[in-house]
Formats: sequence, C-alpha cells, structure tokens
Amino acid sequence: MKIKTRFAPSPTGNLHIGSIRTALYSWLFARHHNGKFILRIEDTDLKRSDILSLNSILNGLKWLGLDWDEGPYFQSNRLCRYKEVIKLMLNKGDAYVCICSSESLLKLRNKQIKEGIKPRYPGICRNLKINHLLNKNYVIRFKNPLYGKVIFDDNIRGKIIFDNTELDDFIIQRSNGMPTYNFCVVIDDADMNITHVIRGEDHINNTPRQINILQSLGLKIPIYAHLSMILDEERQKISKRKNAINILEYRKNGFLPEALLNYIIRLGWSHGNQEIFNKEEMIKLFNLKSISKSSSIINTKKLLWMNKYYINHLSLNYISDTLCEYMKKENINIKNGPDLISVIKLFSGRYYTLKDMTKSFQYFYEEFSTFDKRIREEYFITDNCLILEKFHKKIASLFCWNCENISIVINNIIIEMKVQKKIVNTLLRIAMTGSTSSPCISSVIYLIGQKKTLSRIQRVISYINNL
Ligand code: GLU
Repeated sequence: MKIKTRFAPSPTGNLHIGSIRTALYSWLFARHHNGKFILRIEDTDLKRSDILSLNSILNGLKWLGLDWDEGPYFQSNRLCRYKEVIKLMLNKGDAYVCICSSESLLKLRNKQIKEGIKPRYPGICRNLKINHLLNKNYVIRFKNPLYGKVIFDDNIRGKIIFDNTELDDFIIQRSNGMPTYNFCVVIDDADMNITHVIRGEDHINNTPRQINILQSLGLKIPIYAHLSMILDEERQKISKRKNAINILEYRKNGFLPEALLNYIIRLGWSHGNQEIFNKEEMIKLFNLKSISKSSSIINTKKLLWMNKYYINHLSLNYISDTLCEYMKKENINIKNGPDLISVIKLFSGRYYTLKDMTKSFQYFYEEFSTFDKRIREEYFITDNCLILEKFHKKIASLFCWNCENISIVINNIIIEMKVQKKIVNTLLRIAMTGSTSSPCISSVIYLIGQKKTLSRIQRVISYINNL
C-alpha cells in the first residue's frame, strides 16, 4: 500500500505550533514510508477564511522545509465535485433536504437542553420527499444510520466506539449552498487516496460521522491517528483565536527551523531519551506507535536551549548566511565590518537566538554615539582620559595588526600607568562597544580594525575633554 497523508488546514488563523506538529507528523509518516504528503486548504467557510492565514500556512511550511508532493488543493475549487456527490446521495436516499427554519431548530435545541437531553436534530424532514425547493431556504442533511455502532481503531488511542444513536443527521450542505467540513473532508480524502489521517484530537467526534458517509458511498475508510492537545505554559489549550503564536514569529525572533522542528517533534513523540534529531533521523525513526496519548506542554526554555544547541552545532557558513538575513532586515550592512564568521566564532556559545546575536553584533558594523548615564558618570573622568590617550598613541603606531600585539599594548599600559587591568578593559569596552561587557577585548578590537579603533577611542577622549 502506498502511504499517502495530508495536511488540511483551514485558513482561518495563523499557523501555530499545534498545526505544525500535525503537519510534521503527517509529513514524517509519509517520508518514512516513501509515501506522499499532500497539502489541502480547507476554505469552504468563506466568511472565516482569509489570505493572511493562507500566506502564514504556505510560508510557514516552506520555512520549515515541510514540502508537499501534491497541492495545495483548495476546497473552494472543488465545489462541482461536492455538488455531484451530494446529488448522488440525494438520489440514492442517503441525504435529504431539510426545510426546518433556524428559529424552530433553536427553540427545539433550547427545549432539549432544558430537558437534559443532548441537543440533536430529530430527523423531522428525514422522510419528507421534498422535490420542489423553489425559493425556500433549505439545507441538505446526511441520513445517519439510526442504529448500530461506529468502531475504528485509532493508531494512537486504540479502539474508539460511537453509538449511532448519539449522532444525528448532520448538515452536509448549508443554506448558502456551501458544503460543510465533515462532508468535503470525506470526499477529498477518498478522491485523493489518503491512507492515513493524522490530525488533532478535536476531530475525534467528527470521525464517526465521516466514517458513516464513507460507508454510505462505499468508499475506503482511511486509518485515523488523533494527536493529543498541546497546552501553553499556563496549561491552556492553544487556540487559533486566543493564544496561538504565528509560526513565522519564531523566525522573526531568531529561531532556526532545525531547532523548531526538533522541539516540535518532541511535543508528543519520543525515541528513548534522545532529544536531538536532525531531519534525516526524524524520517528514519518516526512512527505512530511512539506518540504519547497525553497532552504536551509548551516549554519555551527548552526551545531556547535547542536553538542555542543548533546555533552552536550547525555549520558556521549556514549560521552566518541565516544571520546575514536578520542583519539585512535590521538594516545592518555587514560589508561595513569584519567577516561575520569571525564574529560568530568570537561569541561562540553565548547566544540563544539569532535576534540576540544581531543586536549584539551591531557595534562591529555601525557607529554609535550615545553612552548610558551610569557609564558617563562612572567612567568619563580625566584619569581615564589619560589611559585612553596613551592607548590611542600606542595603537596608532602599532605596525602589525593582530590580537597578540593588541594584548601586549593593553598589558603595557596596565604596567606603565599602574592601573588595574579591570579598569583598562572596561574603558576599552565602553569606547569600542558602548557597553561594559564583551568577549575578549583584544579580539573585539582586532576585528573592529585599527582605523575604527582609533576613531572610537578619540571620540571618547573628546567627549571627556568637552565635559
Ligand atoms: N481543516 C481542519 C482544521 O483545520 C482539519 C481537518 C482534518 O484534518 O480532517 O482543523
């Protein structure tokens, strides 16, 4: 059997971690089995579907490298097909026209709730053979079996049983003529030969309805695997409308796709105690059996840890190219300073995100002209000016520009002027970077270069002299 999975988001909100996990697991399952992964956009709810959500889906998947073999299919382009099947079902007597008004149904519903009965449509129009629809508002309902059970073997949860008496004749075509989710999904999964439906557990209740339609049409029932919820750090369900973070925000905030995918695969799937998986390993090891039945909880600290891991373990060229994009977005021109790889190496192991790196690397590529009040008050004093003047003089006459010689200059000043090493280093840091902390200062000075070093030192000297 050729495995075929699908990711079928509705473009009604941002693509978030929960939806990406569904996409990732479906993608991995297909890739593991050399099968196919398709992308289907479920956009029949015209009022709630929008282009921004669609872009978030397409760009998010692309960014994470979750490529699809077919699609994107749009349900809105398949309306003729749905109509054709609905006509067939009406003719066969598996579906019927319902003319109950929404007011009467609302009344009925309230009555059922009052009486403690589960609100259901009681099949009022089920046996009325309505042929003349004229201008009347109507919906089309599926004739759900009245008795018996729907049993399916969920690949994550095991056997799930629903009694048909709990289901009702649900709507498959709305009064505006649009077919509904539970109907379209069935026709699509069948037409697209989907073998495995991997999706969130919020769809478990839809599954018996979908199976009943498949059965009435004599179509093959796919294998279902329903994933448990992902909760946020406050243990709240992630929902598109409430607390979901657009996956592309993670990119903006300096997360690497490799780290995010690795973090997401671990939200509910495990392979012993292993934490780090590259894509090839994920494909090789992924299976549905090792997916947990319990909910997973977002852990931002772990995501940061993973991002740091990948920043430090992926190739320097790759990190530098990706970082370069961030710097560009911040309008930092890396041509105005040292080779980015040397800067990354100097800061190795310090950063959790590319965004933080971008901010910290700024002084290598751009001049700055302001200093904190605390720095000005504490360090911009005449004695310190003498240190800087001496340093300027020595640096100006330094013939061979390398880290070692810069260190020697700094040490000579400490000895000659009988000043504390800490003071000298801090002063130089302030002049070169605008702040009191940086990696090894002689390396920073070396990378910034002789000409810029002289001008930055001179600027602080002038600043102090003009106080
Ligand atoms: N369109 C549905 C959603 O976004 C998914 C449907 C499915 O996977 O069956 O929740």
